[in-house]
Amino acid sequence: MSPLTRRTLIAGGIASAGVTVLAPSSANAIAYPFTLGVASGEPAPDGFVIWTRLAPSPLNVDGLGGMSSANAAVDWQVATDQRFTQVVRSGTFTATQAWAHSVHVEVTGLAAGREYFYRFRALGYISPVGRAVTAPAVGTSPALTMLFTSCSHYEAGYFTAYRRMAEENPHLILHLGDYIYEGAASTTNVRKHAPTVEIDDLADYRVRHAQYKGDVDLQAAHAAAPWLVVWDDHEVENNYANLIRNDSSPAGDFRARRAAAYKAYYEHMPLRAAQAPVAENMQLYRRVRWGSLATFHMLDTRQYRDDQACGDGTKVCPDADDPTRTLTGAAQETWLLDGMRQKLGTWDFLGQQVFFAQKLASADGAKSMDSWDGYTANRDRLQRGWDSAGLRNTVVLTGDVHRSWASNLMSNYNTQDKIIGTELVTTSVTSGGDGNAADNALSSLNPHVKFYKNLRGYVRTVTTSTQMAVDFRCVDRVTARDYPVKTVKSYVVQAGNPGLQAP
Ligand code: FE
Ligand code: CA
Repeated sequence: MSPLTRRTLIAGGIASAGVTVLAPSSANAIAYPFTLGVASGEPAPDGFVIWTRLAPSPLNVDGLGGMSSANAAVDWQVATDQRFTQVVRSGTFTATQAWAHSVHVEVTGLAAGREYFYRFRALGYISPVGRAVTAPAVGTSPALTMLFTSCSHYEAGYFTAYRRMAEENPHLILHLGDYIYEGAASTTNVRKHAPTVEIDDLADYRVRHAQYKGDVDLQAAHAAAPWLVVWDDHEVENNYANLIRNDSSPAGDFRARRAAAYKAYYEHMPLRAAQAPVAENMQLYRRVRWGSLATFHMLDTRQYRDDQACGDGTKVCPDADDPTRTLTGAAQETWLLDGMRQKLGTWDFLGQQVFFAQKLASADGAKSMDSWDGYTANRDRLQRGWDSAGLRNTVVLTGDVHRSWASNLMSNYNTQDKIIGTELVTTSVTSGGDGNAADNALSSLNPHVKFYKNLRGYVRTVTTSTQMAVDFRCVDRVTARDYPVKTVKSYVVQAGNPGLQAP
C-alpha cells in the first residue's frame, strides 16, 4: 500500500483540503454532477473497479447528461475508513464526452480480502461514499456472502429489493441481466420510462440507463458492495439473438442498435477496460476468482447464440435438439469448460441469464425456446464436460424468468439419472409487478425442479468450503414502497454432494 501523506495523518478527514483530500470548492460552475451515484465491481485480490458518471442533467435528451464537450478531471480516493482519514490510493481520471463522461478506475495495490471505501471529486463537488471489497487471496477460503438478482423493470415497481440487498452488507452482488428494459413508456404502471419511446439509439440508451441509475434504492445497492454484471436481452431488445432482431420496430440497422446499447451498458457499469465495446462487439464473459473458495464464470448467452429454434415462445420443437445449435458460441463453450477443468476453487458458480435445467411445459414436450431447452446439445456438452472432469460443486445462477426456482441438474432429465449440479434461479427486482404467493407452477413433469415462488426479490448465499446456505428473499409488493424482505425458502448445498438439501 502507498504510505499515508503526512497531511492526512496529522489532520485527518476532509476538513484539511489538500492534494489527497477531497474538498468542495467554493464556486460551483454547474449543478451537482453525481446524480447517478457511485459503484464498484470486478473485485480482485489487489483491487476493483470504481465507477461514476458526471451527469448534472441526467435526462437531457441528447444523452450527454448536461456536460459540455470538454474533458473533466475526476479525482478519486480509496481509504480504509469511511471518514477517509487513511487514504491508501488516489488519482485523477479524465472523463470524456466520447464515453458520456463516465469514470472507470481500475484500482490496484490494495490488500486482499478486506473492505475499502471510495469517493470522487469533480467540478467542485464530492460524490457519495461507496463501499467495496477486495477478493480474498488465492489459497484462502473465507466465508462469502453473495446476493444475486435480475430483471429490474423501472416501471413495474419500486426497487425495494435493491434497498434490502444494500442492508444485507454483502461481500458481492451479482446482476444476471435485464438491468434495464428497452420498451416504450406505459401509461398503466407505477413509474414511467424516459424517454417515452422504445429506445434504439445511443442517446436513448444513455437516458434510459441514467433514469435507472437515478433511483436511490439502486444507488444504495451499488454503493454497498462490488457488483458482477452480465446482460440478458432487454439491455438491447427483447429476445434478440446475436445480430438477429426480435421484430422490425423500430426500423433501422440492428448492428448499429446493438453497438449503441452495448456502449451505453459499458458506460453505466463498473466494468474493466477489457470489457469496453468495439462497435457491436463486447467481451462480457469473464472469470472472477474468489480466493480458493469459488470461481465465478460470468456468461454471455445473447451475443453469440443461434436464433431461437422454431421462433420464440414455448413449443414442441425437435430442432431445439440439433447438435449444431449453440447458446454460448463455440469459443465461450471451450473457454468455460477449460476454466472449470482448472479447478481453481472449491465451487464453480456459473452466473448467467436463462433457465438451465430442462423444464417441460406439457407432456408432449413443449419447452421454452429462449432458454437452454432451446439449445439442449450445448447444455449436454457442458454438463458432461464438468461431470467427466469430476467437478461436484457446480452451481448455476440464473435470472430472466421473474420467479424464484430451484432445481437439481441431472445428467439425464428424462430418466432422472444422477444429480450433477444445482441451479438457483433468482426472481426479479420488479419485473412482473406484485407477485402471487399462492401461485404454484411445480409439475410432476419435472421432478428435479423442487421450488417455485412468484414474489419479487433476490437470493442470498453464504458459502464456505464445506457448504452453501441459500435463502430466497422476497417482498410482498413492489407497487408500493418500502416493504420488508423475508426468507420464503432455504436450502443447503453441500460441497461434494450436488443438489438441494433441506437446511
Ligand atoms: Fe426480464
Ligand atoms: Ca430476459
